[in-house]
Amino acid sequence: MGKIIVLDENTSNKIAAGEVIERPASVVKELVENSIDAGAGSISVEIRKGGISYIRVTDNGSGIAEDDAVIAFDRHATSKIRSSDDLYSISTLGFRGEALASIAAVSNVQLTTRTAHSDHGVYVEISAGNVKEVKQTGCPIGTTLVVKDLFFNTPARYKFLKKDSTEAGYVSDIVSRIALGNPQISFRLISGGSTAIHTPGNNDLLSTIFSIYGKDTAKEVLEINYSDSKIKISGYAGKPEIARSNRSHQSIYLNRRYIKSKVITSAIDEAYKTLLMKNKYAFIVLNIEINPMLVDVNVHPAKMEVRFSNEQDIFRSVYHAVNNALMHNPLVKTVGLGGTDDKPFQFTEKEKEIPRTEYKPQSLDLERHFLMEHQETIELPGDEKSTVFECAIKDYPDTGRNVKPQENAAEAFGSKVRETGGMQTEEVQAGTGRQWTAADPGGGVPLSKARIVGQAFSTYIMLELGDELIVVDQHAAHERIVFEGLKKRYMNNEPLSQMLAAPLVLELTHQEIKFLEDEKDFFYKLGFIYENFGNNSIVLRSVPYDGRNSSIKEAFLEVLDFVMTSSKSDCNAIVDDALYTIACKAAVKANRKLGDIEIRSLLEELERIENPYTCPHGRPTVLKITKHELEKKFKRII
Ligand code: ADP
Ligand code: MG
Repeated sequence: MGKIIVLDENTSNKIAAGEVIERPASVVKELVENSIDAGAGSISVEIRKGGISYIRVTDNGSGIAEDDAVIAFDRHATSKIRSSDDLYSISTLGFRGEALASIAAVSNVQLTTRTAHSDHGVYVEISAGNVKEVKQTGCPIGTTLVVKDLFFNTPARYKFLKKDSTEAGYVSDIVSRIALGNPQISFRLISGGSTAIHTPGNNDLLSTIFSIYGKDTAKEVLEINYSDSKIKISGYAGKPEIARSNRSHQSIYLNRRYIKSKVITSAIDEAYKTLLMKNKYAFIVLNIEINPMLVDVNVHPAKMEVRFSNEQDIFRSVYHAVNNALMHNPLVKTVGLGGTDDKPFQFTEKEKEIPRTEYKPQSLDLERHFLMEHQETIELPGDEKSTVFECAIKDYPDTGRNVKPQENAAEAFGSKVRETGGMQTEEVQAGTGRQWTAADPGGGVPLSKARIVGQAFSTYIMLELGDELIVVDQHAAHERIVFEGLKKRYMNNEPLSQMLAAPLVLELTHQEIKFLEDEKDFFYKLGFIYENFGNNSIVLRSVPYDGRNSSIKEAFLEVLDFVMTSSKSDCNAIVDDALYTIACKAAVKANRKLGDIEIRSLLEELERIENPYTCPHGRPTVLKITKHELEKKFKRII
């Protein structure tokens, strides 16, 4: 007897569900897309326990006719296409007729729906693919689907679900994306009893951006408006100051469908190339409309990648669309310098040409500059402040506190050199020659004994020591000092947090808030103490270093971004990265004039740490050239 049988419908639906329905967010996506296809003007989503125990999607769309209500749950039951010819001109989000069947196969579903043609509605209840009840009922026009106990009959799937709050985060992410792609529809997401998202549905994308990301983001975006014979591109591009460290704040829509596309993201990167630092990604909401014939959306039901038949054209158009938006709107930023220097600031043409890796945000430098010029009048944080930040604090007017006597420092340094052992001088390419070498402990550079020659380009400290000329990159060096301090405290389980005199309120997305609630302990250990402030915002009360609000916010968001995108497994690496970020933001920037006292204390700090010769990113902090090399260069000797 043969072994092959045809699977029954329930079994094949369960298998299909494995592909389409991965988690509560995928259920929500399918149901909300059905509501959009049904022409709804308002869609409300409610979830409990991250959607695992309960999901409800209610719309005011067309409703389902009584006769269709049960059939809608059959596999390949769809009202959206009639034959394969229609596949080439799909204007709806769904067309496979798989979603309802798949969802009903792995949960308990209740459908309540009514069309305008009927004076009564219909109620259908299905459990694990079996119809339990069908009856007439009174209800408004539109559709409500309730999905309970997702994966209750597929334990293997259930096991893969994450924490409720993480699942809730995924749901709010997908609802946000769909809402941004459909400003003409009002969306509401209620999670665990409270409203997480509510968009106006007034067909204005900017108001939708406002309701999802908050006003701080909405006021920093520029309109995109571009069209040629083949394509229409609209949306909003964020100014450089709201760029983030991952792509989570980039949403791209193709013919109203949320998609992912490498071609498009690289065109966006290219347009921002000179405006953003490395590893920063622009905020963007981009709507692209092209002839559906030119795209293949039928790649995979659950994946969002699309294929274009004319990638080059798409790249070029997106690049121009975004670039035009950036160039036609002056990227004016008012720098809060107060007093005399409170002029708006603009990128000059020259600055725009600076390659991405070297671009430095101007505002910070201006702020630093201001601090320098107003040294005398700035209050120093009190002595009781955590000593880890001495170096950061000391960077400002130096009062001579905490400065180790020079001899001691030198001695300490000397013994360190002996411990570390012999010469390990690494050669560094500097221009054409190879005469500049990176100093290292083996090279033995008692920096505090050196004579300060001066500061070059407000960035490099020049020192003379014995017959060597030493150059210290002030930012890299300070970064190293701060990093070592933070790391040491972290390893010793000492608190890194410092109370902010004025707590900082940050607007975030609902998903980010959920994540921060989940990872409170992790952030606490890094020195960030915050609490939920309602309305998708948090109030930050303590941070790991004493800085200006803008840089604290930047550091916090940067840490949040990469922690959110990192996988849990490499926790130590995440901590290191987080501390690097904090150190970088806390450290004295390049392009800042330093006085002799400041230079001296920086050098002493540098000597005290374990690995003073590279910054946390591995770049050298100290270079040197010998008198001999110079004399050779000047042909004094051969
Ligand atoms: P698809 O969306 O691919 O057609 P689904 O399984 O998601 O398949 O839905 C099956 C059918 O049920 C749809 O084609 C549509 O006719 C009907 N339907 C589902 N949800 C709704 C809704 N919210 N409003 C009106 N009709 C709906
Ligand atoms: Mg569908």
